[in-house]
Amino acid sequence: GKELGRGHIRRFESHMATQAVRQLELERDLRRALLEGQFRLVYQPQIALNTTELIGFEALIRWRHPERGEISPNDFIPFAEQTGIICRIGEWALDCAIWQIKTWHEAGLALVPVSVNVSALQLAQPLFAATVIARLDALPAYLRNQIALELTESTLMHEQALSSVHQLTAAEIPIFMDDFGTGYSNLSTISQLALSKLKFDRSLIQNVGNDASHQRVCRALLDLADALELEVIAEGVETLEEAQWLAEQGVLYAQGYWFSHPLESAAAIAYLKRL
Ligand code: C2E
Ligand code: CA
Ligand code: CA
Ligand code: CA
Repeated sequence: GKELGRGHIRRFESHMATQAVRQLELERDLRRALLEGQFRLVYQPQIALNTTELIGFEALIRWRHPERGEISPNDFIPFAEQTGIICRIGEWALDCAIWQIKTWHEAGLALVPVSVNVSALQLAQPLFAATVIARLDALPAYLRNQIALELTESTLMHEQALSSVHQLTAAEIPIFMDDFGTGYSNLSTISQLALSKLKFDRSLIQNVGNDASHQRVCRALLDLADALELEVIAEGVETLEEAQWLAEQGVLYAQGYWFSHPLESAAAIAYLKRL
């Protein structure tokens, strides 16, 4: 009765306190991670379906926490967005990707474009586009064209974000629309942006190798991409059947475990050496 109820409340309060402490710890740990170099990027190949040639890498962040080990971006990026620290993490990721392309090139390896993920909060910063453009303009010409940015549709809710995208595309920085086909799509917005590619979310690709209804949905969205005159990268391709079906549909590019998991930078070097 009463006793049990009070006990519940006490447990609930202490649960909230624990949550708050954990959040503070995570925030402190994220700041420390930036200062102490605990983040790294891994690189997942993006492949031309007809030739299986490499067309680029997607840079994906990894965090090795000194006590808790590897923490998935799905577990810390949302929190980094809430606290605003994502903006500094995002700057770090862009700098790291640029440094990596330059380092590979200087080692005599192929020059490969890298796409970097951008969060909604970054895009909503009035100075974001100008800062990125200035950063890229300061690079030697051979490096300038090798960076693309990936952003999701939900980041485009604000005027400021749309203005950022317009500035970036005007500066000819390729923009990939990430996770296309999840959530709502504002097609009129998408058609007004000079996007470079649509990345079809893994949920659209799953089972297109053998399920007729998945094939119909995916085909309809491919027709939409054609109507928007946008090239497609299929994400999360895990089987030969999926890759074959997508190639038959005229999809140009793909990414997924079937071709390669994301590669640590040393493994990416080995991969580039085999090209
Ligand atoms: P995303 O941008 O949609 O990235 C694709 C995710 O799918 C990656 O997970 C990748 O490892 C995974 N993946 C690739 N191929 C396959 C496949 O064939 N099957 C399956 N099941 N998964 C596949 P990851 O690396 O854990 O990243 C998760 C999310 O975290 C990313 O989703 C992105 O939203 C975010 N993220 C990662 N790095 C960054 C970053 O530097 N900045 C920002 N803002 N977000 C990032
Ligand atoms: Ca992405
Ligand atoms: Ca994606
Ligand atoms: Ca995603």
